[in-house]
Amino acid sequence: MAFELPPLPYSQSALEPYVSAETVGFHYGRHHAGYVANLNRLTEGGQWEGAELEEVALGAEGAIFNNAAQIWNHTFYWHSMSPDGGGAPSGPMREAIDAAFGSTDEFRRRFADAAVGLFGSGWTWLVADDDGLDIMQTANADLPLLHGRRALLVLDVWEHAYYLDYQNARAAYVEAFADHLINWEFAAQNLDAD
Ligand code: MN
Repeated sequence: MAFELPPLPYSQSALEPYVSAETVGFHYGRHHAGYVANLNRLTEGGQWEGAELEEVALGAEGAIFNNAAQIWNHTFYWHSMSPDGGGAPSGPMREAIDAAFGSTDEFRRRFADAAVGLFGSGWTWLVADDDGLDIMQTANADLPLLHGRRALLVLDVWEHAYYLDYQNARAAYVEAFADHLINWEFAAQNLDAD
């Protein structure tokens, strides 16, 4: 079975005004869909045909790895945002954030610093491992799973994620994500999933 483009968890305009329908249209419809088309083309008739996406992301190299990992990362990114998102978490997620960072405000500051400071194309993650929660940056298509860490949330900081809406003002995009879009329920589900 070919690799498939997972559905968006909301409409293309659901994240407005923070992420426009135009951005989601290009990002999901061209970039994310393009990685799926590339992966199917690259794996046809080869050892990875019919494999699970995570197996490919963990085991492949080069262009096959890049496209598989980007499919996984983008699907995770769409779920990391919600039209009702942003602000502070509650319950066990709040406790885990407070334990790791001291407060939601301090988490927000450190996450924003990491996202704004990441040079070039990549991803800023909230991750969990045996030591609790942490913020992690990855370059290009790299993902926490490859480093033995569990992803809870991700922000895409490739320019294509924000350039139409914010041009080079990455900090404004990061702020909109933190204040209005973070899907804390999704993060909590990932924290629970052992
Ligand atoms: Mn992207």
